Amino acid sequence: MTDYEKLAELLFSHIEKTPEEYEEKYPQRNLPEGARVTRFAPSPTGFVHLGSLFASLSEMLIARSTDGLFYLRIEDTDKKREVEDGVTGIVKGLSDFGIEFDEGVMGLDEEKGDYGPYTQSKRKDIYQCFAKELVKKGLAYPCFCTEEEISQLRLKQENDGLDTKGYYGEFAKCRSLSFEEQKELVESGKEYTLRLRSPGKADGKIIFEDLIKGKIEMPENIQDIVLLKRDGIPTYHFAHAVDDHLMRSTHIVRGDEWISSVPTHIQLFKVCGFKVLKYAHISPIMKEDEETGGKRKLSKRKDPEAAVEFFIEQGYTPESVIEYLLTIANSNFEDWRRANPTAERFSFPFNPKKMSASGALFDMNKMIDVSKNVVSVMTAEQVYEKAVAWAEKYDKELYDLLSRDREYSIGIFSIDRGNKNPRKDISKWSDIKGYVEYFFDELYKENFDEMPENTDKNSAIEILEEYKKIYEHSDTKEEWFERIKELCPKIGYTPNVKEYKKTPELFKGHVGDVSSVIRVAVTSRKNTPDLYSIIQLLGKEKTLQRIDSCIEKLGGK
Ligand code: GLU
Repeated sequence: MTDYEKLAELLFSHIEKTPEEYEEKYPQRNLPEGARVTRFAPSPTGFVHLGSLFASLSEMLIARSTDGLFYLRIEDTDKKREVEDGVTGIVKGLSDFGIEFDEGVMGLDEEKGDYGPYTQSKRKDIYQCFAKELVKKGLAYPCFCTEEEISQLRLKQENDGLDTKGYYGEFAKCRSLSFEEQKELVESGKEYTLRLRSPGKADGKIIFEDLIKGKIEMPENIQDIVLLKRDGIPTYHFAHAVDDHLMRSTHIVRGDEWISSVPTHIQLFKVCGFKVLKYAHISPIMKEDEETGGKRKLSKRKDPEAAVEFFIEQGYTPESVIEYLLTIANSNFEDWRRANPTAERFSFPFNPKKMSASGALFDMNKMIDVSKNVVSVMTAEQVYEKAVAWAEKYDKELYDLLSRDREYSIGIFSIDRGNKNPRKDISKWSDIKGYVEYFFDELYKENFDEMPENTDKNSAIEILEEYKKIYEHSDTKEEWFERIKELCPKIGYTPNVKEYKKTPELFKGHVGDVSSVIRVAVTSRKNTPDLYSIIQLLGKEKTLQRIDSCIEKLGGK
């Protein structure tokens, strides 16, 4: 037995399995050629940041676009970041946006798939088995330095003006302990971390091709990084190598804060004898900084829209948020959407190579536009159901009004919907109260200030008086409009807009002004969807009542 083998037994006598057994237990996946296996690997913080939604969406589509597989792994080795039931928060938070996993953690204490456990705290023996193997081969060793000693070392390196600080080469003093020394220290109960004996050279370089950022060259890792902490729990780096190898990921898609760790990761894959995987580092979502005019990262602290909860509370549909994220993820998404207006959004051929290397810019106005498009192609029933579900939680008054008469409410949302050019007034459910205001007396506020400019109060009164006389509730839309046209000459208006434009001096206005007066009288708005449909829905009694009230407020009888 070599000293390394003796050391491995001394440190890991409880580990009986061999790496080969795990290799066999988690065989190569049986997937079609070119299928990508990706994962989302959050800490159980319960919080879904817009950036995590963006990352998980990209990861899911990178897998789906190749008939691959996407799984959820919970990285709970850092207990400080954990919140109670954070796992459910994440699974539910993502599922609300349509992000679903093929495999992995499915909920609290629930998982699916043959490559688990998918929660790092349940994989201690697996990490230790691979750590034992590294010790056996002389590629890892116990380090008995205390935290105090490590900070002293750093301080000294700083004072000495060293470019590279840390635990490496000649500074890695536990590297050279003999087996006897190691044995004595372990047996005396001294705590230790397990460190990698880095094979990196000071002038060594690594080059890798990042799917998003392109070709990257970086100095090799020379640090004897910690693989297992004092409690035997792996560091992120070591767990990443072991897990992504055994879970048979093919592509590591993650935030670009990890890019500086790639040399360490590639080295770890190599020393462990694993195939090096492909990396795609996603740049953070950026925002225009109002103060400086420059670009900055979307911040959890400063920007409410950094939390996906913000969008839910405002009443954006998850579909809109996803659709918007797709527009900033792949710039050809919008063209694809125009060509395939009703296609299932996740069938978009997502391409990681088209993602921004410098960071996509989040633009709220664009988000609103995208959302208006999404809502405009929904059926009236869909709008109704979703708006009611939102209002039940966030706006009780609206909920009561909308659910009082389902058919009437659906009628409101049916106006100007379902045709080739649907209206685009609603971007989020919190817009709806304003949108439906004049359909409910409880919300309606009279305001007749926006009469057409060329129509004075007396003319407006005259128009309304005349309209009352010709009002026929059973009219078709054509009949209704014909009657309004017929009414025009009687009161000095022309039914012909062109004629008015040619000789405005001959008329008080045209048919458009006449219907505007009626519109303002009935709805207190200058712009509304189709007026005929509104009147039909409001009914004869309410329409005439509103007209009378307007006449009165304008000073008529
Ligand atoms: N647990 C890491 C994080 O939350 C995951 C990074 C990765 O995807 O590898 O940032």
